[in-house]
Amino acid sequence: MKTIDLSKEVDSHEHIKFAEVAKTVYKARRTVVLTGAGISCNAGIPDFRSSDGLYNMVKTKFPTKVVKGQDLFDISIFRDEMTVSLFLSFMEQLYSFSETASPTETHRFIRMLKDKKKLLRCYTQNIDGLEQKLGLKTGLSVSDVDTGRGFVKRWQALDVVQLHGSLGHLACTSCFCNFDWNSEYRRQLAQGLSPDCHNCYLKYQERLYSGKRLTGNYGFLRPNIVLYGENHPQAEILASGINKDKSSRPDLLIIMGTSLRVDGVKKLVRALASDIHARGGKVLFVNKTPVSHAMWSSVIDYEVLCDCDRFVELLRDEIPDLFLTQEQLDSKRLNQKLITPPRTPESKLKQDPASVAVKAEVAVKPEITVKPEVDDSQVGATPIKQDPHHTPTVAPKPRPRKRANPCKQKATKPTKKIRS
Ligand SMILES: [Zn+2]
Repeated sequence: MKTIDLSKEVDSHEHIKFAEVAKTVYKARRTVVLTGAGISCNAGIPDFRSSDGLYNMVKTKFPTKVVKGQDLFDISIFRDEMTVSLFLSFMEQLYSFSETASPTETHRFIRMLKDKKKLLRCYTQNIDGLEQKLGLKTGLSVSDVDTGRGFVKRWQALDVVQLHGSLGHLACTSCFCNFDWNSEYRRQLAQGLSPDCHNCYLKYQERLYSGKRLTGNYGFLRPNIVLYGENHPQAEILASGINKDKSSRPDLLIIMGTSLRVDGVKKLVRALASDIHARGGKVLFVNKTPVSHAMWSSVIDYEVLCDCDRFVELLRDEIPDLFLTQEQLDSKRLNQKLITPPRTPESKLKQDPASVAVKAEVAVKPEITVKPEVDDSQVGATPIKQDPHHTPTVAPKPRPRKRANPCKQKATKPTKKIRS
């Protein structure tokens, strides 16, 4: 594994290594991107693990209830009413941040890869849904549970796979019916209250008035995300989709903004890296903090230490063409054809007709420089022709006015040829 530290000023040694990375990105044809919370920090969405993150804000509110940041995303949070209340309040705040946030340079980089037909798939651990704001297709619907006929087509239409679900919808804990956020749900969730499921309520009413036995299954709404320790409702789809991507011959994996601590994600990286390496491809890791070299040195080829957006900006500086649209590239190429290529001063002297005139003037320069040495009495006669040294080179014809050109005046100054 080669480590490239771009968090400080880039020296020539680091730049050479970065150029290798840029070349790898440029040449790759089927790139898989894996992202984590680090790519959304610059969008204003706090990383719940960081010291000033959202987690700390909630911890201040409920000081005795949360031990560590990951607890907020762990199924164990549903063990008592107080932590459920804390969870719902936390999610409403996170949804508020996501709603107003804008995609980052890194999100736009992923969109660019899609536009260039270089993106095989993006897998994200993020639940903020910022990719959707750039028109990237995310999410899987209930109909996709059928992994049979037609599944491949639906999977291939997907740009971003949300490994942990999305904050974009609420889901019932009992019937799993999905609901959009509305002002009433937000008000309740912000207070740590759980909204009732309207679908469950209708079923309850139906059984009540038809005299059927009441089952008591009555769910409430929570964000449609997958918590740690919770069975993934679309695990089968994911497994089929990942296998499909592996068989599509990816040649580059870029891991961005994640510290690779989640077991499922570790397995995904190892599985993809194995196939990519077998075909001569590369695995690139971009994050502010390093990974364990003991664990990842045989999996990751390049470890780039810096903010993800900075990485994208440096990549743009290194390979600007990658970031241009086809229209911009065509325009650039056309302009290059129209503009005469710049020439060196030497070649210009050789090819430019004007330079030929300058050379000619250098040759006749003796006539001009000699003049001050000529006796005044000789002026007006033919004194120069009588000089045996000057006769062969002197052109007695009058100089055209255009010799007043500064270039030509310069050319008359040297005196070497006279002396020779
Ligand atoms: Zn329900």
